[in-house]
Amino acid sequence: MKWTKEALEEIEKVPSFVRDMVKTAVENEVFNLGRGEITVEDIRASRDKHFAFAEAKESKPKTKIAIVRCEIVSEVCPGVACFKAFNAKKIKFKDYDENTEIVGFFTCGGCPGRRVSRLVNSLKKHGLDVVHLSSCMLLEGDYPKCPYVEDIKEMIENKGIKVVYGTHH
Ligand code: SF4
Repeated sequence: MKWTKEALEEIEKVPSFVRDMVKTAVENEVFNLGRGEITVEDIRASRDKHFAFAEAKESKPKTKIAIVRCEIVSEVCPGVACFKAFNAKKIKFKDYDENTEIVGFFTCGGCPGRRVSRLVNSLKKHGLDVVHLSSCMLLEGDYPKCPYVEDIKEMIENKGIKVVYGTHH
């Protein structure tokens, strides 16, 4: 099967991870049409036909999440457990797929959640979808539960952002 010079240049524009598949598909299609030479138009037609799904998947917007944690607890916690749970997509992150990213990780700023509103407003401009209130805000027993957690949740939800209680337990 012959390729025109322009066709060879065009195929190089196809992402490398699907290039061989496109090449095979184009050659089969042109062969089935009874022709012996591949043109730019053949490549474009094949790419549009066979890879619309892949392109749609690529362009699917990511789910963007932020984690808010307790200012007081942050003095003794670097946040490892939150990130471990997120990276493994476990516990409170088990319903997310790989098309998810953390766009913010910050403390509340101290009682009564002093800076949460301002930072959520800021992250909304970056497409924030969900805020997780870290498990440290929900501790009970020896450690006092955050007395403002329900207010903080309501305030975030009033901004149109989904709120999930907890991160790693
Ligand atoms: S508002 Fe709640 S989460 Fe923030 S510092 Fe106070 S107790 Fe911790």
